[in-house]
Amino acid sequence: MVPSPSPPDAPAPVPCPFCGSRETEKQSDFGTSLMVRLHYCRRCKSSFEAVKWGDACTPLDLPSFLE
Ligand SMILES: [Zn+2]
Repeated sequence: MVPSPSPPDAPAPVPCPFCGSRETEKQSDFGTSLMVRLHYCRRCKSSFEAVKWGDACTPLDLPSFLE
C-alpha cells in the first residue's frame, strides 16, 4: 500500500515561474483562456498563469465545436 500524499481533488501547488517557489495559491479557475488558471505567488507576490490539465491526465483534445 502506497499512501497517497494528497487527495485527488486537492490542487497541487504550482511552482512559481519567476522564483520557483511552491508557496503559490490558486487565485482563479479562469485565466485569459480556458486552458489556464490564475495563480498567485506569496513569495515574490506575482500573479501568473498555469496550464490547467483537468482532473485526469487527458491529452489536449479540443472538442470539434471549438474549432
Ligand atoms: Zn514567485
